[in-house]
Amino acid sequence: MRCDLHLHSTVSDGAYSPSQLVKMALVKGLGAISLTDHDSTEGIDLALQASRGTPLEVIPGVEISAEAGSLEAHILGYYIDHHHKPLLERLRAIRDFRRHRAWKMIDRLNDLGMPLSRERVAEIAGEGSIGRPHIARAMMEKGYVSSTSEAFVNYIGRNGPAYVPRYKITPLEATQMILESAGLPVLAHPLEVLGLLPELVAAGLVGLEAYYGQYSPEQCQDLARWAKEYGLIATGGSDYHGKGILETPDLGELWIPEEVVPQLQALKRSRA
Ligand code: AMP
Ligand code: ZN
Ligand code: FE
Ligand code: FE
Repeated sequence: MRCDLHLHSTVSDGAYSPSQLVKMALVKGLGAISLTDHDSTEGIDLALQASRGTPLEVIPGVEISAEAGSLEAHILGYYIDHHHKPLLERLRAIRDFRRHRAWKMIDRLNDLGMPLSRERVAEIAGEGSIGRPHIARAMMEKGYVSSTSEAFVNYIGRNGPAYVPRYKITPLEATQMILESAGLPVLAHPLEVLGLLPELVAAGLVGLEAYYGQYSPEQCQDLARWAKEYGLIATGGSDYHGKGILETPDLGELWIPEEVVPQLQALKRSRA
């Protein structure tokens, strides 16, 4: 079964709506996708609806942005109960924080001589989880930068003068939050944060995103070995955001072992 287990929609910083992503996956003949928007499950029902009556399985998912000291670690949650009240409340608080953080970043950019309007950034973000790519787009519109990556490198990247941190949540807390919502926690794009594995595996991590859109085949194989060593499922996903937002393969255009989705399904079933 071909799959892609890491996708972003307009519900966070992706270019396509949940139902558009479902249609694209169907056209490509994929067997399963997971919608993993940043700090939001608001697109899941739309994706499930769009897939009803088709051969495509939509796995409810989320990607929670956590921080461990100076490192960023993102935790994916598969088969999450996307109606679980405590989860929804926590994600809403995280998204509210994102909004205030965006206004602070706009203030910093203003101080740097690059005024942006909150209204325009909010409009670009739409209803979704607001993030730095939306600010980058507003900066491009104003001609302050000529690409998203220029915005990140010079201003809003982690070491940039306009960077403001997100809501503080540790990788351990994010893992626990996913487990409490009946989800299967997986460490996303883990290359720089493999040191977290002992702690997270002890807490209930079940997978490692070994096959990642921005990693070389050698890196993916190496990460698959790490997964095996820790008894984790080696999952995979492109991190597709739509063209021109992040340099990733196209939706579904990444080799992921056939058995990944059946393995996740079996684990989920065993916990039901
Ligand atoms: P945020 O969650 O608001 O901190 O923004 C992080 C998002 O920005 C990531 O999920 C990517 O979509 C995007 N991003 C991160 N770094 C870069 C970069 N160097 N160039 C372009 N987009 C990036
Ligand atoms: Zn993103
Ligand atoms: Fe991520
Ligand atoms: Fe992502």
